[in-house]
Amino acid sequence: MPYFDERIYNFSAGPAMMPERVLAEARADIWNFEGEGAGIMEISHRGGAFDEVIAQAEADCRTLAGLDDSWAVLFMPGGATMQFALIPMNFLPDGRHADFIDTGVWTRKAITEAKAVGSVHLAWDGKTGGYDHIPSPAELAPSADPVYTHYCSNNTIYGTQWAAPPELASPLVCDASSDIFSRPYDFDRHAIVFGGAQKNLGPAGSSLVLIRRDWLDRVARTLPAMLKYSEHAAAGSRFNTPPTFAIYLMGRTFRWILDEGGLVAMGERNVRKAALIYDALDAAAEFYRGVARRDCRSAMNITFRTPSEELDARFVAEALEGGMAGLAGHRSAGGMRASVYNAFPEDGCAELASFIEDFAQRFG
Ligand SMILES: *Cc1c(COP(=O)(O)O)cnc(C)c1O
Repeated sequence: MPYFDERIYNFSAGPAMMPERVLAEARADIWNFEGEGAGIMEISHRGGAFDEVIAQAEADCRTLAGLDDSWAVLFMPGGATMQFALIPMNFLPDGRHADFIDTGVWTRKAITEAKAVGSVHLAWDGKTGGYDHIPSPAELAPSADPVYTHYCSNNTIYGTQWAAPPELASPLVCDASSDIFSRPYDFDRHAIVFGGAQKNLGPAGSSLVLIRRDWLDRVARTLPAMLKYSEHAAAGSRFNTPPTFAIYLMGRTFRWILDEGGLVAMGERNVRKAALIYDALDAAAEFYRGVARRDCRSAMNITFRTPSEELDARFVAEALEGGMAGLAGHRSAGGMRASVYNAFPEDGCAELASFIEDFAQRFG
């Protein structure tokens, strides 16, 4: 396939690789969308052609997540960080509080934003453990009667992932930015699931928000219309001019996932891809150290270290020479991180696995 003569294996954590087919479709549609004589970015967000784009994107999203009409599907501007602020602004009234399960930098940021609006109870603090695992039910200390509990299904920076949503009585709010639609998931157990698009869905700067319609009537405080979920839902994600190209790309990505076999097939492939890399690391366990506890390992972000920072740097540099980019860990975690979201090809995982083996043989 000539594609990879021009393109590297991009292990970037986000913005990340998009499906090859989607990029090829977009290349054509930027120029002339379905015979309109204008590109997808140039047509009206209220015209008939875009009506179909957004309707199909929503329908395919519902099929993937198994969501009926009791859910609203919203395409919103701003990344996941915007949702960190909007959720408490919309739903956390004065005098009430929300629970947070702190599994890393992204939940920390959500906590900071929520505190700017209201009260927060920490149901678990993973910081003292170096964010190396997902809490067991016994480790959780939920408060009485929180408005909701916020957690992050996949911790992009540390490489830990919830196997299933936490078993809690309160409504769940899930930041699924880095693993949404990477596997079957129990969406129905949530009040809100949201994800910034840039990891598994599309381009940076936009978000997908799945929200129960009965939550849209809850009004914690007076807000400008642009910041209200109810307004975005009432306007069918077209309250103002929405990020049309991002919505188009998300739609094409949903369609690609469906054609690949849906979330079950995606999940199986992602487990297989991650296992290639984890198996190589485990086979050289005297050389490599994982960041995440074994039973909490992420299938999306694989985090590890060599015995020294010098060797870490060498690993990243040599891999880059071999056409494998984006392997340096996040600045707050160090070491290496291989991000292998849905669109990352299996061949690239095999290639990294053999590099991992080779590197340990040379420097171990
Ligand atoms: C990347 C990421 C975010 C932030 O996304 P932005 O688009 O930069 O706002 C939030 N949560 C998680 C889990 C992420 O991986």
